[in-house]
Amino acid sequence: MGYISVAIDGPSGAGKSTIALAAAERLRYIYVDTGAMYRAIGLAVCRKGIAEDDAEAIAAALPSIDVSLAYEGGAQHVLLCGEDVSEAVRTPEIARYASKVSAVPAVRQFLLDLQRGMAARSNILMDGRDIGTVILPDAPVKIFLTASSAVRAARRCKELREKGQQVTLESVKADIEARDKLDMSRPVAPLRQAEDAVLLDTSDMTLAQSIEAVLRIIKEKIEG
Ligand code: C5P
Repeated sequence: MGYISVAIDGPSGAGKSTIALAAAERLRYIYVDTGAMYRAIGLAVCRKGIAEDDAEAIAAALPSIDVSLAYEGGAQHVLLCGEDVSEAVRTPEIARYASKVSAVPAVRQFLLDLQRGMAARSNILMDGRDIGTVILPDAPVKIFLTASSAVRAARRCKELREKGQQVTLESVKADIEARDKLDMSRPVAPLRQAEDAVLLDTSDMTLAQSIEAVLRIIKEKIEG
């Protein structure tokens, strides 16, 4: 029997992970946060002291990097060579590293196989930047989730402050816009809406409304 894949893509801070995790729980699908996988590679590269734009050294380091996802009580943990780095990857510095390493073709190929493998084994809801366009082009449900950059920056700023990080709205907005630019302009698998994806702008929606809207789109696509 084939498994169902739901692809959710969109820019940084659109609320993809929170919305996708909640929707996956309601559907009892496995949630796959591909951004966390890129962040884990970014963290590994940072720890190895490799410059974030040294594509050759990054590609050469891949055989020594092992990234996997583990699930515990509904929460997803990202493991780097067996170490739980779920918290360590959530800093603006590692987000920047993630965005840089994700432009390296060898890194994308490395994660493509892993991500397709996960989709072949269970019903999944996968979020990222290129899920509907590159990783799972045949997914029956594709959603492009976005919000204005002002709203995305405000949400991300609140989230980082709640985690005790001292950030300013201006710096978060600048980070988000810089990452959007990198993600949309890279030659390999740039961020863009798949032609058959449903566009969902959550600028004026609460979190609960966004989750309901995503679930409604999935239901309509799957049940026809
Ligand atoms: O979604 P998140 O902010 O955790 O992603 C971190 C970075 O990983 C993004 O800025 C993007 O450059 C990269 N990424 C990607 N492709 C994906 C998921 C994330 O290039 N499918």
